[in-house]
Amino acid sequence: MIESYLLKHLAGYIDGQWVEADSGKTADVFNPANGKQLAAVPYMGADETKRAIAAGRAVLPDVPDVDTRREWLEDTRDALLAEKEEIGRILCLEHGKPWKEAQGEVEYAASFFDYFAGTMADALAPETLPEKAKNCTWTVHKRSIGVAGLITPWNFPIGMIAKKIAPAMAAGCPTVTKPATETPLTMIAMFQLMHERLDLPKGMINLVMGSSSDIGGELMRSPDVPMISFTGSTGVGQLLIEQSKDWVKKLGLELGGNAPFVVLDDADLESAADNLIANKFRGAGQTCVCANRIYVQSSVYEEFSNKVIDRVKALKVGDGMDEDVNIGPLINQAGFDKVKDHVADALSKGAQLEAGKHPDELDASKSLFYSPTVITQVTHDMKCCKEETFGPLVPLIPFETDEDALKFSNQTEFGLASYVFGKDEARADRIVANLHFGHCGYNTGTGPAAHAPFGGMLQSGVGREGGHDGLMEFIELQTVPNGS
Ligand code: NAP
Repeated sequence: MIESYLLKHLAGYIDGQWVEADSGKTADVFNPANGKQLAAVPYMGADETKRAIAAGRAVLPDVPDVDTRREWLEDTRDALLAEKEEIGRILCLEHGKPWKEAQGEVEYAASFFDYFAGTMADALAPETLPEKAKNCTWTVHKRSIGVAGLITPWNFPIGMIAKKIAPAMAAGCPTVTKPATETPLTMIAMFQLMHERLDLPKGMINLVMGSSSDIGGELMRSPDVPMISFTGSTGVGQLLIEQSKDWVKKLGLELGGNAPFVVLDDADLESAADNLIANKFRGAGQTCVCANRIYVQSSVYEEFSNKVIDRVKALKVGDGMDEDVNIGPLINQAGFDKVKDHVADALSKGAQLEAGKHPDELDASKSLFYSPTVITQVTHDMKCCKEETFGPLVPLIPFETDEDALKFSNQTEFGLASYVFGKDEARADRIVANLHFGHCGYNTGTGPAAHAPFGGMLQSGVGREGGHDGLMEFIELQTVPNGS
């Protein structure tokens, strides 16, 4: 079992109190590196969620001013950075990612508190419009949208909540957060820090964990929650869209991806290969911005493939707590079996296994460590091109012309991240401008950052996180024409 001074309470947090589930039920949390139980946390449902919403609703009229809220953000940033090692250790144990990566995620989370603390005063100031018709002065106020429901996935246990709760607090929104079942511990640690170090009014932040359908259902049913910010699969996002109609709720949806990574014949192949490895194997390939389909112009296909294969063979897989490990385990059996299925499907349709193990040698019931895998001669009818693999698989697909690269890249219903590598800027610009993806790295595999709006097109979602736009997700504009 996990021991940590940041986990004094293995509990939910409602109306300023640490609370168990009404039923007394708990859910076990496991370390994916060894299958051992780390903790048992409350398994809550609709009733606890109702109380959390009511607590948020009650505090709404008394939410403090911008200066106080800015201090909350600064104090949270400082607390996260001061406790980076311990939070990173908890994160590494429940998620499995290498501990350096886990600590990097804590810094990433802190950067969102820092960014919104630094920009919120200007961003939230009312705007006076020039006098136009009707001899009125027009003022646009930025009002808090009210209580916000925040639902997060397991792949960035602290990064994803930071992107939501930092702008929500900046905007003055009380929140009800539901973490993923696999990774509640990092979130509990963050709530403990906020509970101890911030002078928050009761009900300002609430944490419920347990039945996703009961908690999610209550958040969607309640007229007191006008906004839901969700990160996760497109399937659940679509369900939330259906459930939001009765109250016409505002939804921020950060959903699945299927990222193309295009290597043009004039690219710096060394740099492109390094960027691909860093991008693809972050979180063992379980990130929404991981390159999923790697398109390489045929004249450099062999050379680039060899560079990638050499690099992948040098990666070390193991327990994230071991210092020199590059790739940890996958999160669970379903995730493992999906990667295995994609590799088996590709091999059965003619792809070549260039690095990694044959799927027949891998068994999730024995271990969740999946060997980083490279396959060549990949074609578009294979599952790894059509679906998000969410694991350490590099499928290399040759293409002939720029038009082909664009056509193949856009051949998906998703539109989250994409990447283009090539020296000729005008040529690459033409491709970038025609990609239907909210994020397009040019000569970089870099993902989102606190100061930049990030989000998806098409079935990858609606709305943006990060940057000014990320704050505005939690704001209602109120326009006041003043005739006096
Ligand atoms: P998921 O199954 O959709 O779960 C995400 C969250 O939704 C979890 O907290 C889950 O709870 C909850 N949930 C499940 N069913 C629900 C329901 N009926 N009502 C309300 N909440 C519900 O996704 P995941 O497997 O954790 O995450 C992987 C997916 O997230 C991938 O597709 C990835 O691309 C996407 N993702 C997108 C972004 C982005 O920025 N666009 C970032 C990260 C991940 P339980 O854990 O209790 O089931």
